[in-house]
Amino acid sequence: MEHPPEIEEFNDRIRRAVSGNPPVERRIWVTSLSHCLRKTALSIYLNTYNPSKSWEARIGSALHGWLGEVVKGADFEVPVEYELRDGWKLVGKADAVKGDYVLEFKFKGFENKNSAEDSGKPAKNRDLEHAEPSKEWIEQINAYMGILGKEKGYIYIFDRNGLEFRVFEVPFDERLFRRFIKRAERVIEAVEELEQGKFPKWISTVGNKRWVCRSCPFRPICAAIDREWLLELE
Ligand code: SF4
Repeated sequence: MEHPPEIEEFNDRIRRAVSGNPPVERRIWVTSLSHCLRKTALSIYLNTYNPSKSWEARIGSALHGWLGEVVKGADFEVPVEYELRDGWKLVGKADAVKGDYVLEFKFKGFENKNSAEDSGKPAKNRDLEHAEPSKEWIEQINAYMGILGKEKGYIYIFDRNGLEFRVFEVPFDERLFRRFIKRAERVIEAVEELEQGKFPKWISTVGNKRWVCRSCPFRPICAAIDREWLLELE
């Protein structure tokens, strides 16, 4: 008996899951494209993508939830989806959309001014007055704008201690959006190579950003392939 394509596709998923060979999730999260593309490709291929569960991320989620509850007046947690090729999608969740504007909320714990000065840390980490949106935050809100067809967004930076905030306007940048989509396409190519049993050594890693690699579950793989120095990381 013939079934509709959606049902056939679902049945295929069940069969593959039962046989221990679940299908690769053909979704790429916007937030996964700002650091190591190799990590993103491996997470998709091995089905291990897991948004950060650090205590900082947990506090951020709780404060986002609180903001949506108490402030209202905007659409919060707006899902976004952009069709790539061959069934692949770029997906994410904009923190909020108010009319024609995309809003992103960042909750930052600023360091004590004096100790930050002493340690030579950047001024933007010292206090709200010097805060500025990171490159990653800008490219992510820009991606949401591109997907939702909006021309402007605002990044709110809150001081977690007291919840004072500043607002930064971000105009949509078409070229940045195109470059972001290219990154997603590189990830797709890499996953396809992994499916063919090849390792995509060519895909962008993170240079020498040891802090990114330190918490990455794929360290042993990269150490064996082309980053021997990872073995020295604690
Ligand atoms: S160990 Fe480093 S280079 Fe390798 S996938 Fe993880 S973050 Fe990327």
